[in-house]
Amino acid sequence: MPAKKVCIVGSGNWGSAIAKIVGHNAKRSNRFDPIVNMWVFEEMVEGKKLTEIINTEHENVKYLPGHKLPKNVVAVPDITEAVKGASILIFVIPHQFIGRLCDQMKPHIAQGTIGISLIKGIDEGPEGLKLISDIIREKLEIEVSVLMGANIANEVADEKFCETTIGAKNEANGHIFKELLQTPNFRITVVQESDTVELCGALKNIVAVGAGFCDGLGFGDNTKSASCGVADLITTCYGGRNRKVAEAFAKTSKSIEELEAEMLNGQKLQGPQTSAEVFKILKKRDMISKFPLFASVYQICFEGKAVQEFITCLQNHPEHM
Ligand code: NAD
Ligand code: 13P
Ligand code: CA
Repeated sequence: MPAKKVCIVGSGNWGSAIAKIVGHNAKRSNRFDPIVNMWVFEEMVEGKKLTEIINTEHENVKYLPGHKLPKNVVAVPDITEAVKGASILIFVIPHQFIGRLCDQMKPHIAQGTIGISLIKGIDEGPEGLKLISDIIREKLEIEVSVLMGANIANEVADEKFCETTIGAKNEANGHIFKELLQTPNFRITVVQESDTVELCGALKNIVAVGAGFCDGLGFGDNTKSASCGVADLITTCYGGRNRKVAEAFAKTSKSIEELEAEMLNGQKLQGPQTSAEVFKILKKRDMISKFPLFASVYQICFEGKAVQEFITCLQNHPEHM
C-alpha cells in the first residue's frame, strides 16, 4: 500500500498543537508520507507572511508561540495546493469557516479520501441540529470521524498527559487515525458513537461561557459546578478561552466580539456562536424552557440580557420546579 499523505486543514492554536503530533508520527511510521501539509489561513505577522515564518522558523509564532513544529510539517497558504495528493484530511478550524472552505476543497478531493474533524461547534440547518462533521460529509462526500476531549492545545503541545476520544463509525478508519494521532501523553480511545462524541465536544463550550459568567460575577465553585460535567467540561470550565472571555464579559461592559479581539490575538471562541445555533433549534422546537442554561448564555451574549441574571436561569431550572 502506498504511504498515505496527510493534510491538516487549519493552523490555529489546536491545529498547530496537533501538527506537532502528526508531523512526528508521520515521520516515524511508514504507513504515512513523511511530508505533512498544513493549510494556513495566510496573514501578515510583523511584516512577514505567517506561512514563511512557519516554513523557516518551524514555529507558529502567532497561534502556538514557544513550540517548534517538526520540519516535515509544511505550511501551505493555498487550500487547493494543500490538499493535493492527500488521502487523509484533519479538519481543525473554527467551525464558522468550514462550509466555505469545503466548497473550495471539493474539486480537489481524491477518491477514497478519509477525514477527521477536531472542530467543536454545531450548525443549525433546516432540519434542526447539524453536526460539523455532517457538513464535511455532505460537501466532500467522504467518511468523517471526529476527535474530541479535554485537550487544551497549549497543554497538549507541552506534552502534558491527557486523554481523548475518536468517534469513528468506520472502525478501520478509527484505527488509522489512532496510529496517526496517539502519543505516550495523548492517549486515544476509539468508539463508534461518533455523533455523541461530537455533540459533547460542541455543547461543552456553551457551558464554559456560563462558567466564565460565574467567575466574573464572583459566584462560588458550587455555583460553577451546578451543571453536570465530565472531563472536557471540567477542563473547559477552568482553563479554556470560552470561560476566560466570558469572565471578562461579566466584569466589563464590552461585547463578546470586542473581548475576543482584545484578548485572544486572532484565536476564536466557539461557545457564543454554538449557543446561537442551539437557541435557533430550541426555539423552532419550542424547547427553550427545557434548556435554561443554553438559552441564557445566548440571550446574555447576543440579546442584551443582563449577565447578573445568569443565575436566575439555574434557579428556575425545570428540574427544580
Ligand atoms: P484558533 O481559535 O486559534 O482560531 C484561529 C484560526 O482561525 C487561525 O488559524 C486563523 O488563521 C483562522 N482563521 C481566521 N479567519 C479565518 C477565515 N476567514 N477562514 C479560515 N480560517 C480563519 O483555532 P483552534 O484553536 O485551532 O480551533 C479550531 C477548532 O478546534 C475549534 O472548533 C476549537 O473549538 C477546537 N479546539 C480547540 C482547542 C484549543 O485548546 N485551542 C482544543 C480542542 C478543540
Ligand atoms: P476553549 O476553546 O474554551 O479554550 O476550549 C478548548 C477545548 O476545547 C479544550 O478541550
Ligand atoms: Ca447556521
